[in-house]
Amino acid sequence: VDEHIDALMRDGAARAGTFSLGGGLPASELFPRRALAASFLRVIREPGASALQYGWPEGRPGLRAWVAERLRRRGAAVAAEEVILTSGAQQALAIAAEVAFAAGGRIGCDAESYPAALALFRARGLTPTVERTGVVGFYAMPALSNPRGHGLGEDERRALLARARAAGVPIVEDDAYAELRFDGRSPRPLLAEARALVFHVGTFSKTICPGLRVGWLVAPPDFRQRALVAKHTSDLEANSLAQALLEDFLAHADYDALLDRARRFYAPRARRLAEALRRALPAWRFTLPEGGFTIWVETDREGDDAALLEAAIRQGVSVDPGRLFRVDQRASPPALRLSFASEPGPRLAEGVERLARAWAG
Ligand code: PMP
Repeated sequence: VDEHIDALMRDGAARAGTFSLGGGLPASELFPRRALAASFLRVIREPGASALQYGWPEGRPGLRAWVAERLRRRGAAVAAEEVILTSGAQQALAIAAEVAFAAGGRIGCDAESYPAALALFRARGLTPTVERTGVVGFYAMPALSNPRGHGLGEDERRALLARARAAGVPIVEDDAYAELRFDGRSPRPLLAEARALVFHVGTFSKTICPGLRVGWLVAPPDFRQRALVAKHTSDLEANSLAQALLEDFLAHADYDALLDRARRFYAPRARRLAEALRRALPAWRFTLPEGGFTIWVETDREGDDAALLEAAIRQGVSVDPGRLFRVDQRASPPALRLSFASEPGPRLAEGVERLARAWAG
């Protein structure tokens, strides 16, 4: 990340009184604190103390079985043995990038994509591109994309699979927001269509909480052993305590009810942010997200997104500058990713008014 932008974003996050339309963090009100605390005590008291002990690199069998069962319900025939638990989706992406993509190649991505994945690819000498040919693989968020909050249509899905098959290259499927679609439909993962090509990545960060840092990777059978070696040599295994806590939590919780609650919490916030934008910044373009935490907006004149971020912070609102998401890293015309997840409705509306003042200069 650009150091100047990084410093601005940290400054914005640290200032008292700043309204947060940046970050794209889940709402802390939804963290199931009480239930997690109860799970914590149970796993700590367990006589074998497995939550405090080393485990195998692939992770706890019970939690792997839970993940596999959820994927089976969405149409992907996954066995518990095929799931590798990771330190968040980010580590799953890092392992997939290491074992899936031929060194030095180009990776086909959406024109706007997830910054930490783009940064990961670039750090590994891979080049994100919007081209669809001459690539060593694809990175996609078919169920729901970050930053736009859109899922792939049936035609786009088929086209992506056809291109990967024709070129014989893998697809890294980032499924981080699949269960936070407002329509409650978690689509059939690409994993269900092409086991030999798809590296499927998921996480508990968006639906339970990111602080536990637990995600997963389902690699194609031919790559599973290499993925496991990459996992083992990176950190031996994902945090035992966090895995045990989640396994216990999920055994006691009604996860579908928790997801329903989250969707009912976020959907009105998305509408509220959209309304505020239409009112205060009618020339800016955006489409309503289908889920997730954010709206991608494009401004209507040339400028610089870092300057806009700076002006916004002076007005008391933080935002995420668009260049971080753009595969071509363009600063102009400025685009922003705005989060509706972290602030209640009135503060979203006031935050947009502050942003409009920053834009007016
Ligand atoms: N993929 C996407 C699309 C994300 O938005 C995020 C979190 N911002 C991640 C992966 C990483 O999530 P985790 O906390 O599980 O590492």
